[in-house]
Amino acid sequence: MSSALEKYAKSSVPRYTSYPTAPHFAKEFPESVYRGWLAQLDTDEPISLYLHVPFCKQQCWYCGCNMKLASKYGPVADYVENLIDEIDLVADAMPGTMPVRHLHFGGGTPTVISPEDLGAIMTLLRERFEFVPDAELAIESDPRTLTDEMVATIGELGFTRASFGVQEFDPKVQAAINRIQPPDMVAHAMTRFKAAGVSKINFDLIYGLPYQTAGDLKRTVEQCVEMQPDRVALFGYAHVPWVAKNQRMIPDDSLPKSELRAEQADAAAEALIAGGYVRIGIDHFALPGDSLAVAAKTGELHRNFQGYTADAAQTLIGIGATSIGRTPSGYVQNIVETGAWARAVAAGKLPVARGHGLTQQDNLRAHVIERIMCDGKIDLAAAGRAFGYADNWYAPEEEALAELQRDGAVVCDHGRLTLTPEGVRLSRVVASVFDTYLRNSNVRHSIAV
Ligand code: SF4
Repeated sequence: MSSALEKYAKSSVPRYTSYPTAPHFAKEFPESVYRGWLAQLDTDEPISLYLHVPFCKQQCWYCGCNMKLASKYGPVADYVENLIDEIDLVADAMPGTMPVRHLHFGGGTPTVISPEDLGAIMTLLRERFEFVPDAELAIESDPRTLTDEMVATIGELGFTRASFGVQEFDPKVQAAINRIQPPDMVAHAMTRFKAAGVSKINFDLIYGLPYQTAGDLKRTVEQCVEMQPDRVALFGYAHVPWVAKNQRMIPDDSLPKSELRAEQADAAAEALIAGGYVRIGIDHFALPGDSLAVAAKTGELHRNFQGYTADAAQTLIGIGATSIGRTPSGYVQNIVETGAWARAVAAGKLPVARGHGLTQQDNLRAHVIERIMCDGKIDLAAAGRAFGYADNWYAPEEEALAELQRDGAVVCDHGRLTLTPEGVRLSRVVASVFDTYLRNSNVRHSIAV
């Protein structure tokens, strides 16, 4: 590991899927403010929708998501009813029928919903919103529990993309993370989706898992490359057992140290690139024809709560407990606890718990952070001018940037900041220089590499 990587690898920094990041949203955010933001939306501007389904059939020990075990369907059915009511509440608060370009079902495992209930949700969404002809409809799925009926329904409902958490194929690692899922099972799920007309497939892989080696992950990547998913996300396992109690099932001493994590990430990236994938940002790879690779090439890559995206929508409406959304005016996060969320919906309230109204200073810093994370470069002076600030607006950050330059992570030339090839791995650290909220907080984040 290089000295710059070594120095910053353990920094506790956000993933920057938003700025400010969710821990800095204000608590007890008034519902009326969000209503006001929704009422101001431009009905000609396509929006995106995110629906959160926080149920799974089994608990993975590494999980950091907000999820509940669904041993019976009753609680899931109740949740679907509330989700349907929330869709109506949100649609009623908008100034008209909004066009939709992206829809994403995330979780949890959205495919725990019955095919009939998924059909009912989609019917309502198509009644209340106008999906543009080339809209992307994506759903996260679990190959271990996916039924043929569900695959057929997802195809019939017009979904265009499905994603799987593959993580790692090595049996000892799968046992240690409580997720037994052999390669044949994943390949079979993929074949079934394609036959049903869901033509795009994403895989998620994880490095830094218990007992995992660089060799294990390289073999996993080679098996994935044979299956040819359109996109692969490669995340570092974030061990935060003080937040996710299930992670206490993973012994601290089974986890690879920083140097081994970096080796694993490098081995996986090399195998993906050798397999014909294009590297995108800090943690994504895609086949060259995939929309994410095209967006990266044309400088139109973005970041939202799902990570890297080709979706340029300014408005992302989050529906369901915990979900986070944004409008041009600011961010909101729904109530996390499903009971309290359901009660708010039943009372006819938009179930927001936290939020943040964006200032012009936030907009400038959000833009700078997004371009660092997506492009690895930014003209700081030009960005300042675009948002109505002086060329030297970043003077308070110059000392930190100079240190990163001395460490070989960035080059800063007359306000043009460029991450070095090594610095790209430290994009989150470089982005954090511009995060004024982080400086004044003691929130713990996952480590940088
Ligand atoms: S990792 Fe995914 S499938 Fe596993 S428990 Fe968490 S949300 Fe469910």
